[in-house]
Amino acid sequence: GPCSIESEEQITYCAQRVKAAGASLLRGGAFKPRTSPYSFQGMRSEGLDLLKLARRATGSPIVTEIMNTEHLPLFENVDLIQVGARNMQNFELLKAVGRQKKPVLLKRGLANTLEEFVMSAEYIMAEGNENVILCERGIRTFETSMRNTLDLAGVVMLHKMTHLPVIVDPSHATGDYKYVQSMAIAAVAAGADGLEIEVHDNPQCAWSDGAQCLKPDKFAETIAMCRKVAAAIGREM
Ligand code: PEP
Ligand code: MN
Repeated sequence: GPCSIESEEQITYCAQRVKAAGASLLRGGAFKPRTSPYSFQGMRSEGLDLLKLARRATGSPIVTEIMNTEHLPLFENVDLIQVGARNMQNFELLKAVGRQKKPVLLKRGLANTLEEFVMSAEYIMAEGNENVILCERGIRTFETSMRNTLDLAGVVMLHKMTHLPVIVDPSHATGDYKYVQSMAIAAVAAGADGLEIEVHDNPQCAWSDGAQCLKPDKFAETIAMCRKVAAAIGREM
């Protein structure tokens, strides 16, 4: 789904298109961790309401990011709670999502090792919630040609280090829609258990991360290609 939820029409249309293409979950940001305090900060609880309307319209389970323990009551009706890269080591937040029952999608920090990533998952599980999905979303390196450097070997390594499912976010990893399809395919080939891809019907006008959003047609084409790769390595998507 889109980086940010922007309106009922936007999120519902996106929900319908990604579901038709084969997405099993709808993701949209309501609370946005933005680098600049002057950038759009998300529609907050109003965005959560719109996301729920899109779920009702499509039947797709919803995923959205939590930034603050105080917001937990607002997330009771969310199907999968995302803890974003910038909060990977917000230990009080990790403990709080560990004390509730919804599954958690934990994204790797911008500059965190795999060991630290696994320890953060451990914080959640130690509180009793073992339903954790890891997400590799690119890390900071000396390379500046892309937003981040996608650590696909890390996906293989994480599968060795843990029993947890590992998914890949090629959107934040590259920061540019032109590279998202290739990296999605590569992620499936590397054994990723899922993908988180940003999709927007009008990326030029997106309120955040438009440069890395796929249009719905391109998303559908990408999923079709990923399915072929998955089949080639004996997996199903
Ligand atoms: C996001 O998923 O929209 C997001 C902010 O991702 P990350 O935490 O990986 O930067
Ligand atoms: Mn984003």
